[in-house]
Amino acid sequence: MKFKCPECSKLFEAEGTRIEYHSPIYGPCAKYVGYCPDCNVESDEYREPNPGKKYQNYEPVSPPGCCCSGGSCDF
Ligand SMILES: [Zn+2]
Repeated sequence: MKFKCPECSKLFEAEGTRIEYHSPIYGPCAKYVGYCPDCNVESDEYREPNPGKKYQNYEPVSPPGCCCSGGSCDF
């Protein structure tokens, strides 16, 4: 899977580490993080924009900041 470093914006491939945590709002959640090979900073999964999808002018269902907003939450 791909990750993007928040420090240097580098895209890198990594196996990813599953991190489980408990959101006070959304309950148990999980996400995958990778570590930048350059700065060793914890990085969130990078999701490429889907080229097959046209621009949709409505907001995602999940509110910003929700751990599940990217669809990577298993719960
Ligand atoms: Zn980096």
